[in-house]
Amino acid sequence: MADEPRAQVRERFRARCAYCGVHEDAVGATLTVDHHRPRAHGGTDDLENLVYCCARCNEHKGAYWHELDPPHVRLLHPGRDELAQHLRESDDGRFVGLTSEGDFFAQRLRLNRPQIVAYRRARRVEAKLTAELAASRRRVEELERAVVDLRAALESTADEIERRSKGRP
Ligand SMILES: [Zn+2]
Repeated sequence: MADEPRAQVRERFRARCAYCGVHEDAVGATLTVDHHRPRAHGGTDDLENLVYCCARCNEHKGAYWHELDPPHVRLLHPGRDELAQHLRESDDGRFVGLTSEGDFFAQRLRLNRPQIVAYRRARRVEAKLTAELAASRRRVEELERAVVDLRAALESTADEIERRSKGRP
């Protein structure tokens, strides 16, 4: 494939496998470009037919095309279908199908292989820690503002005491 469509499809899917979600930084290499409708079954090089994906997902998908291959369930297209309506990620990092298409998608592409589940779980932990860190930083800022306010109150009280003591006969 020429460099330009490859770059476009990579950008469209933000350098992640559009099937399992792995980022190319985690793979340590650029990913492959899949023809959602296989070329052997009339698929074209049109950008709409191209999906950025990792080698393993590409291999599991193979030349599946629902019009010809059993079980004749359409494989969801990550660029056209709203995957969140068909799949959800559970707390342990596994993909759970919400529809029969979602079930088939997860099963055909082996989206719950142990390594990718571990990867998703690590990302969840990272996201949680990042959120906790941001919350802690906000709390520190609040406390710093409170310290400034308290210091001002303390100074004003000290001034008041001084004024009163001077006013005494
Ligand atoms: Zn993948």
